[in-house]
Amino acid sequence: MPENIYDVAIIGSGPAGYTAAIRAGQYKLKTALIEKDPYLGGTCLHVGCIPTKALLFNAELWDHLKDAAEFGIEGVASRKLNWGAVLERKAKVVNKHAKGLEFLMRKNKVETLKGYGKLTGPAQNGIHTIELKDGAKTSHIKAKNVILATGSEARMIPGLEPNDRVLTNIEILKLGKVPSCGCESREGRENENRRNCQLQRRRQAAEN
Ligand SMILES: Cc1cc2nc3c(=O)[nH]c(=O)nc-3n(C[C@H](O)[C@H](O)[C@H](O)COP(=O)(O)OP(=O)(O)OC[C@H]3O[C@@H](n4cnc5c(N)ncnc54)[C@H](O)[C@@H]3O)c2cc1C
Repeated sequence: MPENIYDVAIIGSGPAGYTAAIRAGQYKLKTALIEKDPYLGGTCLHVGCIPTKALLFNAELWDHLKDAAEFGIEGVASRKLNWGAVLERKAKVVNKHAKGLEFLMRKNKVETLKGYGKLTGPAQNGIHTIELKDGAKTSHIKAKNVILATGSEARMIPGLEPNDRVLTNIEILKLGKVPSCGCESREGRENENRRNCQLQRRRQAAEN
């Protein structure tokens, strides 16, 4: 039986990986997209650009409603935040886009492979071997070309672990309650927010 050799294998399904995969598919190349996480989309879709922008939109709406009366909108003076609903909406936006990516892979005939991908060594006769580890299961695939699109992750200061006070982009996006100050602030309010955050941090430091 002839060996199954991909024209391109891409490790990592973030924006770099999935756009490369779509392009390769459009060129009719036999393409594999390898992802260690259970979903496609990488940092940007799951713990970066998309969820933060979904939350920023909530903040923007909230902020606009402060001046509702000035815009002739009445009856919203006693607005109340339902944080659970905010997080739910964010998750919905992310999941919708993740499903869209799966559809795009199928449409462009890209094979998605779940597992942690690792090059086993130099190419042999122009063919690379990639080890794929998914839990206890290990397999190997072969490809003429490999794109490493493994992105990056927040690095911890040695000795620290992420928890409810030490937050990376992952923890901060699933906080159980509204954070007292954030790093991304609404356009036009950045300086004000930054000043408020600094004041708040100083106040907190003085209290501790
Ligand atoms: C909070 C936050 C907000 C952001 N907002 C914006 C924004 O508004 N606009 C903007 O342009 N950018 C934004 N970014 C940056 C953006 O998210 C990154 O630039 C982008 O995700 C990089 O894409 P990538 O494909 O290179 O890597 P990633 O998105 O990091 O994807 C890499 C993928 O590879 C997978 N992977 C890694 N190693 C392996 C392996 N060995 N085997 C299998 N899979 C592997 C990972 O699981 C991941 O899915 C933001 C980032 C953060 C953290």
